[in-house]
Amino acid sequence: MPTPKRITVKAPAKVNLSLKVGALDANGFHPVETVYQAVDLYDDIVATHDDILRLTCEGEGAELAGNGPGNLAWRAAELLAKHAGIEPQVHLHITKRIPVAGGMAGGSADAAGALIACDALWQLGTPREELLALAAQLGSDIPFSVAGGTALGRGRGDELTTMMARGEFHWVFALSNEGLSTPAVYNEFDVTSPDAPTPEVSPALIAAIAAGDVRAAAKHFENDLQVPAIRLRHSLNATLRAGREAGALAALVSGSGPTCAFLARDADHAIELAIELQASGAVHRTVRASGPVRGAHVISID
Ligand code: ATP
Repeated sequence: MPTPKRITVKAPAKVNLSLKVGALDANGFHPVETVYQAVDLYDDIVATHDDILRLTCEGEGAELAGNGPGNLAWRAAELLAKHAGIEPQVHLHITKRIPVAGGMAGGSADAAGALIACDALWQLGTPREELLALAAQLGSDIPFSVAGGTALGRGRGDELTTMMARGEFHWVFALSNEGLSTPAVYNEFDVTSPDAPTPEVSPALIAAIAAGDVRAAAKHFENDLQVPAIRLRHSLNATLRAGREAGALAALVSGSGPTCAFLARDADHAIELAIELQASGAVHRTVRASGPVRGAHVISID
């Protein structure tokens, strides 16, 4: 195959339908059991050849994501090159739509996208299992950003099991104009729940997802980081209330927040919900998305 000049990858945001968190372990980590769902809100990652590693970023919160080694996509390109025994000669250009520090795994999406894009640009053909192992080295949510769909995450969230999943979930996300730091939310969790039990996702949720019963699933959505996130950002209470009053099937903080996720009955209801949330004055901005969708994937090769 001729050497590709340019690879374009789409990488999805995620929402946790359930995020159960255990007490801090001896290694300083929180065990989790979580149900991830990838949704059709995407960052784009374009990889082209360069003499050195270069990164540029535009769009939603681009200035916060950074253009250097602090950007997870940069680290992903470096790690894959090291793994393959080559130099990381690539220009990565990221178009951000996933809110930065929004609890929707935007950085993880970009890292997953960079792994997939560089693997294709450098024609490495890295086996899927190796890509997932590299992803886990970069961050707990990154294997899921590669895998997509609906999956159960255990351990630090990186031990994935694909779930039987039917049905389409229509979401409205309420975005904040300022992010929340994931470590700060976990620190607050330690204060509120120092003796949290072993995390376990409700079997009823898993059964409802397998049956494609979206309404039944919504009754079992949970997020152990919701209370600590609200303690750090009291205004989230009003945001969640506005969604419930507007008739959302479920209202919860997404991951570590501050994005709030509202489940709608169908696509039309999602539009109504978004309008009502916006009118409530309790929400900065809304975006609609549905899931599950596939993980980071190549959309064009030039
Ligand atoms: P999670 O849901 O995985 O906890 P998040 O969605 O809350 O993550 P991110 O958008 O991934 O948060 O960003 C968290 C921090 O990571 C940001 O404050 C930013 O400095 C840093 N970061 C590094 N790379 C990126 C990237 N490509 N996009 C966004 N943030 C990035």
